Amino acid sequence: MAEVLTMKEILDLSAGHFNRHGLEHPRLEAELLLGHILGLERIQLYVQFDRPLEENELEQMREFIRRRARGEPLAYILGEKEFMSLPFHVDSRVLIPRPETEHLVERALQIFGPNEEPTLIDLGTGSGSIAVSLAHYLPHSRIWALDVRPDILELARDNARRNGVQDRIRFILGDLLEPVLKEGPVDGILSNPPYIPSGELEKLSPEVRWQPRLALDGGQDGLHFYPLIINQADALLKEGGYLGLETGTGQDQAVGPLLEKKGFREISIEKDYSGHKRCIWGRKS
Ligand code: GLN
Repeated sequence: MAEVLTMKEILDLSAGHFNRHGLEHPRLEAELLLGHILGLERIQLYVQFDRPLEENELEQMREFIRRRARGEPLAYILGEKEFMSLPFHVDSRVLIPRPETEHLVERALQIFGPNEEPTLIDLGTGSGSIAVSLAHYLPHSRIWALDVRPDILELARDNARRNGVQDRIRFILGDLLEPVLKEGPVDGILSNPPYIPSGELEKLSPEVRWQPRLALDGGQDGLHFYPLIINQADALLKEGGYLGLETGTGQDQAVGPLLEKKGFREISIEKDYSGHKRCIWGRKS
């Protein structure tokens, strides 16, 4: 006879299993996974604790538990991640949007008011998190979102549709800013480029190692993309236009001088909620 388990039983078992695998929030993750399978909010799980699971539900939960216990990020299993309070589809094509990157967007929202009509670029858009949230919170902006692979742009376009901003985002395929260099000038350029030194990729947590190398690998010193972006941005920004870049720990010390050398002014370094220097901004003179 097939095994019968109630929701409470499967949650207890999953949470115990996740706990043994060292997950930080075993119970929460178990609830999110089960809720996803059943199409229920977490709160709704509690009122149905004694409901036995159907065999196919149990089977799917077992599969999710296996994947999560192997280190696959929760967001890939759920296919979903929130960024700037907006929902994004994610899968192994793209980096999972990170709360740290919200600082880059927040700063842009301080610079450009909701009534302005800036043209802004999200370079290396991945899931489209930066482009879509800029388009959402700056309802008169026009956004150009660039990335190097058509299948990545496809996912970003899905996310734009999902958030109802597809009409104001152009999705452009190409190497860095190359395809739009002759089109400027633009008011702002934002990017969260790959910035992890190649040699450190292996040492990162499994959560990070599951994510695409293309989105993470910043070359030998992690700084490969910054001078390229700064040079191209300088050519594309209008006078007084803004460049905002996310950086890894300590990298502002290398990126700041690059901006200065290129003549950018009002260079500022923003910290994230944990006090880490997280992004660097400059204005084209
Ligand atoms: N712009 C996307 C993000 O910030 C992807 C960045 C990347 O792939 N390096 O999440």
